[in-house]
Amino acid sequence: MTHIAVLGSTNMDLVAFVAKAPQRGETVTGREFRTIPGGKGANQAIAAARAGATVSMIGAVGNDSFGTRLRSTLEHSGVETDHLRTTEGPSGTAHIVVDDEGGNAIVVIPAANGTVDHLAPGDEGLIASADALLLQLEIPLDAVLAGAQAARAHGVRTVLTPAPAQPLPVELLNATDLLLPNEHEVAALTGRTDPRSAALALLEEVPEVVVTLGSAGSLYAARGTDPIVVPAPQVTAVDTTGAGDTFAGTLAVALAEGRPMPDALAWAAAAAALSVQRAGASESMPYRSEIDAQYT
Ligand code: ATP
Repeated sequence: MTHIAVLGSTNMDLVAFVAKAPQRGETVTGREFRTIPGGKGANQAIAAARAGATVSMIGAVGNDSFGTRLRSTLEHSGVETDHLRTTEGPSGTAHIVVDDEGGNAIVVIPAANGTVDHLAPGDEGLIASADALLLQLEIPLDAVLAGAQAARAHGVRTVLTPAPAQPLPVELLNATDLLLPNEHEVAALTGRTDPRSAALALLEEVPEVVVTLGSAGSLYAARGTDPIVVPAPQVTAVDTTGAGDTFAGTLAVALAEGRPMPDALAWAAAAAALSVQRAGASESMPYRSEIDAQYT
């Protein structure tokens, strides 16, 4: 079975639903409160597990009740958590206010995620045994770089989602096999708003780039070939939260199984299209049988 390692964040999303978000100094009464397990690392891990891989999560949760729930959510989705450390103090949280127009304001407190600033004993061996390593930027860059370089040293494919958008050290780009930004992130990385030209510019540092384009699908660029656009299925989106993480986790599984890139991108697009038709982030992610049924 394909083995995917994920080095990244786990967060509890604390979501307040309100007609109109409060201004500074104002108190408003909201409609509903939900706690939703998330974090880009954990979400990508769940997407990959549901897509049919054996998945191991490397990261940290706090020794609070959120940490217990974050770990059990991963385990219930079939993600191995032996390398998910429990640290003293709180788990990472994202404090989200969602208004009736679908707008949101978010404060992220990394907490336990901030302690993941290095590889722990055993992490490198786990990475070496994987077919691919999924990375994002919600843990300290030092650990992301260490993970990418460990994967590179062992010939393991690295897939980096550069979110949240920020400038990246060239060493990290050079240890990345596939960079997977959305349109906003690719513009932030390159200063170019045209995804095609931005992706081509990134090929100076990274051999392969996939830019996700929302309902327009994805654009794939690799050295020595013309970029291609793989469309997304036309569906009615209910909630696009987690679409990018679904796409990343599923794409990594397909590539690790040896599927050619255009086929892998179409399979990932089928998975992401399923996820946007259902509410929620990780809970909306499809299982392999559903993806195969959508992908015809
Ligand atoms: P998010 O932050 O919402 O998780 P993202 O901004 O990281 O997503 P997007 O480019 O918006 O990433 O979406 C990722 C992928 O999800 C797209 O490449 C596409 O395949 C799929 N997708 C997103 N929105 C839609 C949609 N409305 N209809 C069909 N597929 C979609």
